[in-house]
Amino acid sequence: MINTCGFINDAKEESINTILEFVEKKKAGILKKIFVMGCLSERYMDQLKTEIPEVDEYFGVYQLPEILNSLECDYKNELIGERFLSTPDHYAYLKISEGCDRNCSFCAIPLIKGNHKSRLPQDLLNEAEKLRDAGVKELILISQDLTYYGLDIERKKMLPELVEKLANIKGLDWIRLHYAYPNGFPLELLDVISRHTKICRYIDMPLQHANDRILK
Ligand code: SF4
Repeated sequence: MINTCGFINDAKEESINTILEFVEKKKAGILKKIFVMGCLSERYMDQLKTEIPEVDEYFGVYQLPEILNSLECDYKNELIGERFLSTPDHYAYLKISEGCDRNCSFCAIPLIKGNHKSRLPQDLLNEAEKLRDAGVKELILISQDLTYYGLDIERKKMLPELVEKLANIKGLDWIRLHYAYPNGFPLELLDVISRHTKICRYIDMPLQHANDRILK
């Protein structure tokens, strides 16, 4: 099972080289099957199927149930919200939404991840509590655009209330906010930040480009 990136050229090249490396292993009889998943697979699936047919199956970024099916595994509802932490024990990323509605001309994310999809607040709170129970002290909120959170589910910007609820979870010491798009920033968030000392006093605001014309 090869997870791929389809965002920048170096990562695409690395993904393709890895697939080809495993195709050689399959030809040598070391592997029975190769499955490819992730962003490269989502973005270039038709092309990949034609050009590297030795791969048994390609999966897009939202096809986890299909992957489980192909692996002949059951979907385990009791594991919803469980996380395998790849960060050191004391901090964890909490992805609050996926995709993006902005369509900046230089960015491939909407092509890969589609439109913005917020996760439900209760799921996020449950996950945060489980992470806290596992020893996480610092929660880093991420998405393609934090400020858009909630617009697709309740037609309102729900980031301030989500952050407030997360800040009220006992045992979490720090909350950091990454990737807040500047246009349409929810100003009530500043009140929430000022009320809770555990919310770090900075906002990661991606400006994304070195070219003045593109930035404008
Ligand atoms: S806001 Fe970010 S993720 Fe969305 S299109 Fe622009 S650069 Fe890409």
